[in-house]
Amino acid sequence: MRRLGVHSFVWTDGKTQAGLERALEQSAEAGYGLIEFAYLRPELFDLDALAKRAQGLDIEITVTMGLPVAADVSSEDPAVVKAGEALLANAVAAVRDVGGTRLGGILYSAHRKYDAKPTARGWQNSAAAIGKTADAAREAGVSLVLEVVNRFESNLINTTAQGLAFLKDTGSDDVTLHLDTFHMNIEEANPAAAIRLAGPKVSYFHIGESNRGYLGDGVIDFDRTFDALLDIGYSSDITFESFSGAIVDEALCLACGIWRDTWTDNVPLARHAKAYIELKLGEAERRRATNARP
Ligand code: MN
Repeated sequence: MRRLGVHSFVWTDGKTQAGLERALEQSAEAGYGLIEFAYLRPELFDLDALAKRAQGLDIEITVTMGLPVAADVSSEDPAVVKAGEALLANAVAAVRDVGGTRLGGILYSAHRKYDAKPTARGWQNSAAAIGKTADAAREAGVSLVLEVVNRFESNLINTTAQGLAFLKDTGSDDVTLHLDTFHMNIEEANPAAAIRLAGPKVSYFHIGESNRGYLGDGVIDFDRTFDALLDIGYSSDITFESFSGAIVDEALCLACGIWRDTWTDNVPLARHAKAYIELKLGEAERRRATNARP
């Protein structure tokens, strides 16, 4: 069943247990059925308490992350790759322990603007590490979804076509793609065509505006986005992602270049996003039904 989700950085910088628990409540209050926690560090939080709180609110938890440079599985240095594999294994366990079923984001490289091109060996190291992680993830009941991101946040997988090639090289049928309108708007010649190309290989979707602020305030063509999602029969979760300098996670601000306040009040932002997604999805469904009538 599809759930509409909201990124936890709409609510909190994610640094305290109380902050994450309050974010769960605020997500439920705004009508969402899923929250995305980023960089969930198991040593800092009571995952069991978070799992119980989420269950009580009927909120699913998805976890996303990007790798640090010292644990970049696309490195040519075997020790760094090994550190990355260990970090991914810990992340899979944390997702399981918090009651989640999905680990997404930039799992295949560091989350950074690279200063060099990717190498063939780095690509193979990464694909092998993801394949290995997928085996452990299956046993933990966690699925891996790889986020296709823009050139400033990774050098390895910037387009859906690259993502599909990478999936093949992992040797695992369990790994799928995580697409994001913000990133596709930067990299894809035709974002809607990229969604259709991904087809059944996309299993998680981020809705974000071109300036990462209010939906509708930028240049993303959400009509064509939802038409494409309906065309591929996409029935999995859709999560609203937005960042503002108003809620500051320093590492994320640096990695994503969040220098301004695109919004200051998160409650109306989150309510607007849910209504906007439902409106656009409903319009796409109506177009489809109208076209199907002879
Ligand atoms: Mn995203």
